[in-house]
Amino acid sequence: MTVVTQVDLDTPLLGPIGKKAADALSTKLGLHTVGDLVRHYPRRYVDRGKLTDIAGLELGEHVTVLAEVEKVTMRDMRHRRGKLMQVVITDGRGRRLDCTFFNPYKLKAVMVPGLRALFSGQVSRFRDKLQLTHPEFEPIEESEGVRPFVSIYPATQGFDSWQIARCVRQVLELLDDPTDPLPESLRRAEGLSDLGRALRRIHMPETEADQYAAKNRLVWDEAMGVQLALALRRKRAVQRPAAANPHVPGGLLEAFDDRLPYTLTAGQQSVGAEIAADLASETPMNRLVQGDVGAGKTVVALRAMLQVVDSGRQAAMLAPTEVLAAQHARSLRSLLGPLAQAGELGGAEQATRVTLLSGSLPAAAKKKALLEAQSGEAGIVVGTHALIQDRVGFAELGLVVVDEQHRFGVEQRDALRGRGEKAPHLLVMTATPIPRTVAMTVYGDLEVSALRELPGGRSPIATTVVPAGEKPTWLERGWKRIHEEVAAGHQVYIVCPRVGGDTGKDDTEFPDDPDDAGAGTDERRAPLAVLEVAPQLAEGPLAGLRIGVLHGKLPPDEKDTVMRAFDAGELDVLVATTVIEVGVDVPNSTAMVIMDADRFGLSQLHQLRGRVGRGSAPGVCLLVTDMPAGTTARERLDAVASTTDGFELARMDLELRREGDVLGSLQSGRRSGLRLLSLLRHEEIIAKARVRATEIVDGDPGLVRHPGLHALVAETVGDEERAAYLDKV
Ligand code: ADP
Ligand code: MG
Repeated sequence: MTVVTQVDLDTPLLGPIGKKAADALSTKLGLHTVGDLVRHYPRRYVDRGKLTDIAGLELGEHVTVLAEVEKVTMRDMRHRRGKLMQVVITDGRGRRLDCTFFNPYKLKAVMVPGLRALFSGQVSRFRDKLQLTHPEFEPIEESEGVRPFVSIYPATQGFDSWQIARCVRQVLELLDDPTDPLPESLRRAEGLSDLGRALRRIHMPETEADQYAAKNRLVWDEAMGVQLALALRRKRAVQRPAAANPHVPGGLLEAFDDRLPYTLTAGQQSVGAEIAADLASETPMNRLVQGDVGAGKTVVALRAMLQVVDSGRQAAMLAPTEVLAAQHARSLRSLLGPLAQAGELGGAEQATRVTLLSGSLPAAAKKKALLEAQSGEAGIVVGTHALIQDRVGFAELGLVVVDEQHRFGVEQRDALRGRGEKAPHLLVMTATPIPRTVAMTVYGDLEVSALRELPGGRSPIATTVVPAGEKPTWLERGWKRIHEEVAAGHQVYIVCPRVGGDTGKDDTEFPDDPDDAGAGTDERRAPLAVLEVAPQLAEGPLAGLRIGVLHGKLPPDEKDTVMRAFDAGELDVLVATTVIEVGVDVPNSTAMVIMDADRFGLSQLHQLRGRVGRGSAPGVCLLVTDMPAGTTARERLDAVASTTDGFELARMDLELRREGDVLGSLQSGRRSGLRLLSLLRHEEIIAKARVRATEIVDGDPGLVRHPGLHALVAETVGDEERAAYLDKV
């Protein structure tokens, strides 16, 4: 065996550490190199003198706790030969965990009351007690010279925190101080320690100040990685000029403004002016318009599209679903009236055409639509992202509008800008309010404008939490209310988290928050499903009403048929998944019942309820849950019921969601390069890093003089990003 005496960050782990451990690190934790391992930071530190607070443990979590053995009993196994050792461990504050060990003979000598050890395993519940089944454990020697803190690592079944710690210590002993990617000037100005020191300190801190300083420095690495990637992207985006679309007097846009039945809100006007100026310039527009549900984004987008059409170019509008694309096409046509009837009887003189490209179109119609796009006859082409990106050739595409951005990653945005000689302008619209740090990261390559007010005449939505478990009569009253709404000529949505109809496996339709709200779901029943709830309602509480069903698994033409029927008032009730979350606009719908509301994210609930109360009649939204009072889940629902402020809810959502989910959309790589950066806690660092990164990229657009930073970008946002970037430099 060769003796490894020196390693750097790229050295494979096998060598500096033994085969068994190296295999475990690679298969269980995805750590392959020395760099991977030293960037696998401790989740937290345990002060050797202090026991872990057991009250903070969550069911289902894999935990490592420092606890003291209080009681040890041996008993026979019930159904097999052999013995069980039952150990009660305590946090010294009166809270206890039961641990069960099988085949305990080897443990007998060590496991004695008073022993302090790390215990590691999954938290479960038996009767009313929390327990760790068959945990691993590692005694803590209280000998002289032991470090003051035990680092607790994100670990898994079969490879425990202390085993990771041992491997980390081994490689740190062999590791030469790596070259520091951050320029010295920056480190000095921000008081950051160098990389080698920070890496040693984060794994083996001597003091709490060490922990803080190390973390602070490593957070900077991540913030710089992200901000450099974004600065590079911004640079790249403006390298290719766009076509200028100056205002055309007497054009379509003016004609449209003349026939608009309402006046634009102040926000629509000022955002409209910003967009108009962008479109008139050769610098490609990259603008995000944020406006709460119902703020009137469609008309803003349409006016932008008309400005481009006036210059003889085309605009594409991209929606996340076929349902939404079809609906957009319908509403654009109806807003435009004769202005969209080019070549038709009654069409206006300057008229253009709105062409819908849908996967469900018959072949001949699809061919016709593609031709209209290609020939330039269609001034506006509406379709889903997938379809337009892959299939459509344009005569001259001047503007791409992306509706409901939040399911759309940075990479997809890049793809849209295409490869032509001129870049199209890009306008992105989202109803999800964007906290400042999110604007600086996930949307950091875009300029942001906001529509802050809703058009007048909108009706308020009253939201009520219905605790179905505790107060079944409330739910009955809820269904009665639905009958009343329908009797008054209105329509109703019932939303369920799942489609159903098969194994009951994971077919939740949460495109945004795959694991949202699911904490500790181990013991819970499967979420309610559209295909089960609809027939139950039809036979039970909603008997006699015309009920339709809509979800993502329906064939596109069926979706369209259902949506049209609902739109036309031929259905009273639509039982649906979150497919209706974005953009669906049926002003006659006044009530929404969200089943298992606790399974949805806060922003998502806000989006959903924005579908009702779009007409003049007031809306009602019922959040049905069987979560008991006093739980976090219930508090979240109470928060949604108590405010209609989307910004406030987005902020709360950010606090509750795992941030990885948010930042994750920045990353293309399989493994996350962002471990410490927090959108809530590191606002200031993110803002400073943004300024620094912009300066550096302005002075060195290819990062050729900063190879370390170049590598940092790849490490933070993934290799694909680096590849894409190198490709274009
Ligand atoms: P969202 O921002 O959610 O996409 P929409 O564009 O669908 O909102 O607009 C919501 C409703 O408000 C539509 O029915 C639209 O016709 C109407 N609307 C938009 N702007 C105004 C305005 N300035 N005054 C009155 N109604 C408006
Ligand atoms: Mg919309």
